[in-house]
Amino acid sequence: MKSTFYFLLLISLTSSFTLSAEKRETKPTATSPKTVKIQSGVVFTFDDRFIDQWVKQIPLFKQYDAKVTFFVDHFHTLKPTQIEGLRKLKAAGHAIGCHGAKHRKAVDYVNKMGMENYLKAEINPAVKQMTIADLKPTAFAYPSSSRNVEIDQALLKTFRHLRGGTGMSPGQRMRDLKTIFVPVDQISKTGALIGTGIDYAGTEKRPDYLVQIKDAMDHAKKRGEIVIFYAHNISDNGPGHHLRPQALEDILAHAQHIGLPTLTYDDLP
Ligand SMILES: [Zn+2]
Repeated sequence: MKSTFYFLLLISLTSSFTLSAEKRETKPTATSPKTVKIQSGVVFTFDDRFIDQWVKQIPLFKQYDAKVTFFVDHFHTLKPTQIEGLRKLKAAGHAIGCHGAKHRKAVDYVNKMGMENYLKAEINPAVKQMTIADLKPTAFAYPSSSRNVEIDQALLKTFRHLRGGTGMSPGQRMRDLKTIFVPVDQISKTGALIGTGIDYAGTEKRPDYLVQIKDAMDHAKKRGEIVIFYAHNISDNGPGHHLRPQALEDILAHAQHIGLPTLTYDDLP
């Protein structure tokens, strides 16, 4: 009799544990978007130190619920107001990544000075400075997209993901750049994500780019992939390589329209 009681108690406990486990799994994750399973996405990245111009676009990003990644170089030379700007970007949900201490080309430097010196000169001090400023980076973008597998392996001990780059040859369609697309189930295994540049989209320098970018985003959405883009300044006339705010808005509106979420490097599995 007694053993029957304990048996029933055990059954009841087991089922309540099972129930609570099920409850945990189906619990809504709206408060923690990073735990939502990624089904497709677009990763926008902006490089160098156009912090003032980036900060000006916080309302535009917010309007389209877009989160992006800013890769910063020469962190040790930034003024307090610029660091404050990076904090504002981060507080708005964007990610801050590392773009090297002195924007050196990785392959040239490693070939000349060796891996250890490269890490000592270009990576470790940048990560340290950013960490002290409470902006510890999880990702690194190669200056001038100069990279190779050996350097990837060395850097992936410090960073979760890297960003390289590729260009389009004349007549090529952006959707045919195979390396800029990664199936969502391959993201965690893909250390170096490859982007393509979208500066000057919609200007006479690259008149067809807005159509190409939107088409590439459609492609990613349809195939359950992420697509990676990079740009630099966000302004009408520079300085430096730049994407016009109107073009950025056009692109973000399209992503929202087709239901393609923007992902930062910090969001990636
Ligand atoms: Zn750069």
